[in-house]
Amino acid sequence: MTYKPTIGLEIHLELNTRSKMFCDSPNEPEERHPNLNVCPVCMAHPGTLPTINKEAIKKVLKLGLLLGGEIAKHSYFERKNYFYPDLPKGYQISQYHSPLVKNASLNLKSGKKIKIQRIHLEEDTGRLIHSGKETLVDFNRAGIPLMELVTEPDFESSQEAKEFAEELRTIVKTLNISSADMEKGVMRVEANISLSQNAKLGTKVEIKNLNSFKAVERAIEYEVERQTEILASGKKIVQETRGWDDIEEKTVSQRIKEESHDYRYFPEPDLPALNLEKDEEFNIEKLRAELPETPEQKRKRLKNQYNLEEELIEILVKDPQILSFFENAVSELMEWAKPEDKKNLTTLASNYLKTDLLGLANEKQISFSELLLTPENFAELIKMLVKNEITSRGAKDVLRKIIEQGGDPSQIVEELGLKQITDEDYLETVVKEVIRDNQKPAEDYKKGKQEALQFLIGQTMKQTRGKAKPEVARKLLEKFLKS
Ligand SMILES: [Zn+2]
Repeated sequence: MTYKPTIGLEIHLELNTRSKMFCDSPNEPEERHPNLNVCPVCMAHPGTLPTINKEAIKKVLKLGLLLGGEIAKHSYFERKNYFYPDLPKGYQISQYHSPLVKNASLNLKSGKKIKIQRIHLEEDTGRLIHSGKETLVDFNRAGIPLMELVTEPDFESSQEAKEFAEELRTIVKTLNISSADMEKGVMRVEANISLSQNAKLGTKVEIKNLNSFKAVERAIEYEVERQTEILASGKKIVQETRGWDDIEEKTVSQRIKEESHDYRYFPEPDLPALNLEKDEEFNIEKLRAELPETPEQKRKRLKNQYNLEEELIEILVKDPQILSFFENAVSELMEWAKPEDKKNLTTLASNYLKTDLLGLANEKQISFSELLLTPENFAELIKMLVKNEITSRGAKDVLRKIIEQGGDPSQIVEELGLKQITDEDYLETVVKEVIRDNQKPAEDYKKGKQEALQFLIGQTMKQTRGKAKPEVARKLLEKFLKS
């Protein structure tokens, strides 16, 4: 018996504003010293008044616009009443009836559209730290602007959910509205899952604590399996919240939902309502004009403009630094290249970027921005390759040297003595020597054994310490072996 999974996501993101959502305390998720970034407002002292951080609202509106959502004309904050030790006010300022954005969407690579019900803004809570029998509270996080995005239950597989979360992170980083770091809890994902056999939706189970994309994928897979087994044995699914245990790789029950909570939402009386339609600060057309290229647009452009392979396109789309490096280097090359060489040069540059440069960065465990190589120097190296001034082996050595100690490619080529030998007179002498010293392979080749030629080319390269141009070596060897 098969059951169809219906999955929805709720994603929380801390925004990277300078200050908190309703006060001037610094918004620093990295602060390790507890209770440093606090003030009477976010500590809920009596008589204090919150003020709205407009920067946070603009960041949410930009995301809403990029995702093609409807921006609310009017909106307001509400109090969500509940008690918890990490919530100093006894309520959280949030939005319920009038989210900033409604009806947005995001397309998966398959073309499937995932509808986004709402995006709203609220304040984060403090953090509880359990140690032994004690529980400590750190309020540094209390009041940090927290965006919540709720999708429609449009996902049918764990892969779709994972792809959505990854794509959202890429968008959020492109917009520079959040670091979206999942490990640090800046981006938090929750999944709702139910199974059904017909049009009627099954009982919903919520999974929390998904702190990585892998966890999103694995937890959904686990839950679909768990629920399938329960239903297949004729039992009922319990409506509950479960947590993901990363070590055991399973979901565990956290609390059973008897009925939905009554948070007694009501408008926050200490904050003015937002008139997004009239307030110049939130000029929608101006915000729209500031939007960057979406990842989807970037993919199309990179394919059309440079004809790159998909794997490299994904790397570039996910990392704006590598993308800008690549585009700067290519633009440098295009200024120099003859029209008929442009395509090949782009391919050459992209190959060296992908296999060599990214490989080296990975090996040395350094981020791309820390590389001691400028796009101009990278372009210069590619030019030397095209002009046959160095071999591809030499180019690799130069790249490594620059990454280790910096410097100019032409200088390093001199320093390492890598200038390629294309001087045929000199190479002729070497080739003659190689044939003389390797009589057997030379005879083999004459008898029609093609592999023998490869060996002789190898010997020629060895004699010149890799500086001979292989094509010239081959040409000369063939010439002398035939005569
Ligand atoms: Zn504060």
